[in-house]
Amino acid sequence: MSITLTQFAKKVGLTKPQLRARSAALGFDIDKEAKEIDDDLAGLLEEEFKKEVEDTADAYDEMVSEEMDKEIVKKQRKKTAGRHTDKSSKKIEDETPVESKGTVEIPDVISVKEFSEKIGVSPVRIIGELMKNGVLANINQQIDYEMAHILAEDIGVKVKRKHSAAESEDIMKGDLDKLLQEDDASLLKARPPVISVMGHVDHGKTQLLDTIREANVIETESGGITQHIGAYQVVKNGQKITFLDTPGHEAFTAMRARGARATDIAILVVAADEGVKPQTAEAINHAKEAGIPIIVAINKMDKENANPDKVMGELGEYELIPEEWSGDTIMVPVSALKNEGIDKLLDMILVVAELQDLKANPSRPAVGTVIEAHLDPNLGPVATILVNTGTLKVMDPVIVGATHGRIKLMQDHTGKRLQKLGPSDVAQIAGLSNPPQSGDLLQVVTNERMARQKAEEISALMQEGKIQNMGMGLSEIVEQIKEGQLKTVKVVIKADTKGSLEAIKENVAKELKSADVAVKVIHSGVGNVTESDVMMAAASQGLVIGFHTDVPAQVERIAERLHTEVSVYKVIYELIDDLKKLLTGLLEPETILVDLGTAKILKIFYTGKKEMVAGCKITKGKVEVNCMARVIRKKEEAGEGKIGGLKLVNEDVKEIEKGSECGIRFEGKLKLEEGDLLEFYKEETRHKTL
Ligand code: GDP
Repeated sequence: MSITLTQFAKKVGLTKPQLRARSAALGFDIDKEAKEIDDDLAGLLEEEFKKEVEDTADAYDEMVSEEMDKEIVKKQRKKTAGRHTDKSSKKIEDETPVESKGTVEIPDVISVKEFSEKIGVSPVRIIGELMKNGVLANINQQIDYEMAHILAEDIGVKVKRKHSAAESEDIMKGDLDKLLQEDDASLLKARPPVISVMGHVDHGKTQLLDTIREANVIETESGGITQHIGAYQVVKNGQKITFLDTPGHEAFTAMRARGARATDIAILVVAADEGVKPQTAEAINHAKEAGIPIIVAINKMDKENANPDKVMGELGEYELIPEEWSGDTIMVPVSALKNEGIDKLLDMILVVAELQDLKANPSRPAVGTVIEAHLDPNLGPVATILVNTGTLKVMDPVIVGATHGRIKLMQDHTGKRLQKLGPSDVAQIAGLSNPPQSGDLLQVVTNERMARQKAEEISALMQEGKIQNMGMGLSEIVEQIKEGQLKTVKVVIKADTKGSLEAIKENVAKELKSADVAVKVIHSGVGNVTESDVMMAAASQGLVIGFHTDVPAQVERIAERLHTEVSVYKVIYELIDDLKKLLTGLLEPETILVDLGTAKILKIFYTGKKEMVAGCKITKGKVEVNCMARVIRKKEEAGEGKIGGLKLVNEDVKEIEKGSECGIRFEGKLKLEEGDLLEFYKEETRHKTL
């Protein structure tokens, strides 16, 4: 249904040119040729002309925070030697573009009406903008976030996607699994195996990788100098094999702890003259825990004192038994230095790969993993990418961890330019806005704008601390045990001496064997708790137990970041007792209050029913968003509440340190007053450990 322009103009008491002008002022251009307009639109325009501004809660909220910002800005300006008079600063504020209203959160789908309310722009203007984008919509039309973002950009408002917990969860954990999932098995094609080389220091990992690369490099016309880009490929019997060029289980497990899956087979290098050493054992445990097959390269066979039989005997202790002794582990004697036995090793890799039945779908947009990344003086941010599935092409828009870009260049380790990369292929790429981190996920998306948006979202989530790593805290472990979801608790045990380590392991086996939930020692060793121990526990969602050992500060930090429990004990009995309680779900958490800091209320900006906005100065310690606050008035506690938000000048921040003036959003029943003191604290649940 429509109405003629003449009729409509008459209805709203305007001439036709006036009608056009007023509509245009609202952001809606009535076409010059148009003789009539849609009823719905006419209704909306009429409403707008009447200008009944609805005081929506959101608009009000925005107003309040804007006022707060202005107050703070004003104060800061006063401090800067009165360069602005109050009048001039007022002028500046008046001219501040819409952006200063802050960023508006928009859900995945929103109606035109809600969107207009949220960003404080008339629905007519939004409908007009939609039309410019080729979308005919009415006020109740649902638009998706991508469209809302485009409109907001056109209008000059900043929006960001509102997240639900489930979404952040997807991004942080399940993504790779989800992304690699392939519904149509007929699209799957065999892909090359990806190999990591591990073993004790000086047993020849680097030499082996160098020898394989030099002897088997794919011939290219470029003839360029080979460069270490973190990975390379060779061809053996017409089949490709991908090698990760950062030897050692640390890099391997660090990637795994970040959720990456970048290795199909581990080559365990053991020097024939030295045999199994502590890091050999560590590497075995790391590979086993990742569930990947191990091929042993018994290296340095050229040495006079090489004793492969001794090596094989020692490996038996770790359940690696060679085929000639009726086991199922392939062991190949080699000399990396003299390039002997390497061919056989490569053949064996292909045999094991075949058994693994490695497959991926080359005909879909790529998903990959960052092997390493850095800032190149000529190319800018570069990253070495291993393609997990799909095909990555030059010019593809990508999101990589918290960064994004468009693939401008791809080159292999010989400097050869590539146009596309299939599954298991590796190359260095350029064209990202920032260097990502190793273990980050690469995803090809439909356009660069979406890549940017997604990257911004992920980086915001990271800043808010919502993206956690793979680890599982003790409380979660207890919870999962109680719910019957967790049947095995994986632990890494470190002790001061071999004797105490044996005693602990014996006790664990004896005392805990009848529990419903099993304890699996995924790695144990003598010495301090190391980064690698924590990463291994994190990657397996287990915990680290130390006995009479130290936990260096940087290791503690990593444990915190990876959300992984490290408990140190001094008495075996207590260690076993706690484990028993843990397994039976009886390990009760204790709640402790952690004091954060104090602040003085300087000014009240807004008082609502259950929340208030106040300007204050942090006088001690710090304040964190979502912490609790006791209100102290005349030296007595007058009440308490929660800190719902923090603003430093115009920015929403997570925490503010001593000395700063800031705006706080206080949620609680008590009405704050100027001069009140706030004591900030937070509750932490800890499990009793020694
Ligand atoms: P990584 O620490 O495991 O990476 O060990 P490297 O590859 O750096 O090798 C350590 C040392 O062992 C170097 O001096 C190598 O030259 C030497 N090496 C490696 N492989 C062999 C080998 O097959 N035979 C002999 N004799 N020496 C080797």
